[in-house]
Amino acid sequence: MYDLEAVRAQFPILARTIYNKYPLVYLDNGATTQKPRQVVEAMTEEYYNVNANVHRGVHFLSQQATELHERSREVVRRFLNASSANEILFTRGTTESINLVAACFGQAFMKEGDEVIVSEMEHHSNIVSWQLLQQRIGIRLRVVPVTEEGRLDMEAYERLFTPRTRIVSITHVSNVLGTVNPIKEVIRIAHAHDVPVLVDAAQSVPHMSVDVQALDCDFLAFSGHKIYGPTGIGVLYGKETWLDRMPPYMGGGEMIEHVSFEKTTFNALPYKFEAGTPDYVASTGLAQAIHFVNELGMDNIQAHESELTRYAMEQLGNLPAVHVFGPKGDDHDAVVSFQVGHIHHLDMGTLLDRLGIAVRTGHHCAEPLMHRLGVEGTCRASFALYNTKAEVDALVQGIRRVRVMLE
Ligand code: PMP
Repeated sequence: MYDLEAVRAQFPILARTIYNKYPLVYLDNGATTQKPRQVVEAMTEEYYNVNANVHRGVHFLSQQATELHERSREVVRRFLNASSANEILFTRGTTESINLVAACFGQAFMKEGDEVIVSEMEHHSNIVSWQLLQQRIGIRLRVVPVTEEGRLDMEAYERLFTPRTRIVSITHVSNVLGTVNPIKEVIRIAHAHDVPVLVDAAQSVPHMSVDVQALDCDFLAFSGHKIYGPTGIGVLYGKETWLDRMPPYMGGGEMIEHVSFEKTTFNALPYKFEAGTPDYVASTGLAQAIHFVNELGMDNIQAHESELTRYAMEQLGNLPAVHVFGPKGDDHDAVVSFQVGHIHHLDMGTLLDRLGIAVRTGHHCAEPLMHRLGVEGTCRASFALYNTKAEVDALVQGIRRVRVMLE
């Protein structure tokens, strides 16, 4: 597979001591991942030696910065196996990517009474973006329920299609339950109804190979910071046939061809959707992060993380009074949410933190799913390629200690 110690050495933060006492056990990777040296160094190098605004300058540095930025787009294209770099839009992250689709697809193809299908396990970004469109033009949200086991109810999904369904917008992997949805089947069913699909891949792209042509998704969104890249950059993949027919998202520089007060024409793809100075240094960082992942091999990463997930579910499941959420099968990846007896998730998270263990607590930006599960929040451990079984053991020991303290 890969040398875990050598890999960890690429992430300086993993050597930190928390409260001057405990080695850091970082299990909050679903929120954001740590950054390897090569990502930070490539960005520093660009700021020190290349920095200039892209696409506009005739001078040497501007041309070099533009070349780096466009090379990064090509790295993303290859990573997702998109057929053209015109289909790769740089955004600020998954949230902006989803908002872009809701706003621009909505404007082009939806009117009052039309419907979007989302699911009960969506992140708020894939709910509220559509509710904003609902407020603007009166569309309706149809919601795929989640089963007791924490899976999409696929029969209910099929029944939600009506002649007014215009788009399906569904997460690939749940950021709470770790459920890996049968996204290919979700897409196949939607296409059988002539309905396009937006995939929220924020929690899948860091953990498994995602091939947009094999999936045949129409749009796909992810965030750089969850895949070892910098904050402030993400991607929206969109099929050219859709993007061509959608209006721009924001107005400004870069996205225009000609501007006059009488008539403004827009730039070609992908620039039509990229108003203003892009974060060209972050795109360099994202490309480095993808190189880093590719060098380790996504299959190796997935094997390692699946093993950690299995181990964590088993070890947590063996603890008395611990309830582990999400499916008990191979369709559960990298995210383990749990509840310990009557201990409030916030108390558990706070006390684990005192032992150097970073987990997430709360509703995880998925309040409708919390209602479905009948809880206010959960504790969530989420894994990355650098986590170890010893860290899972530390979590289990930590939970034991907290129980002794509180019960
Ligand atoms: N969707 C899912 C499934 C997520 O897990 C997250 C981040 N927690 C987002 C969307 C939003 O990502 P970002 O905040 O990077 O835009």
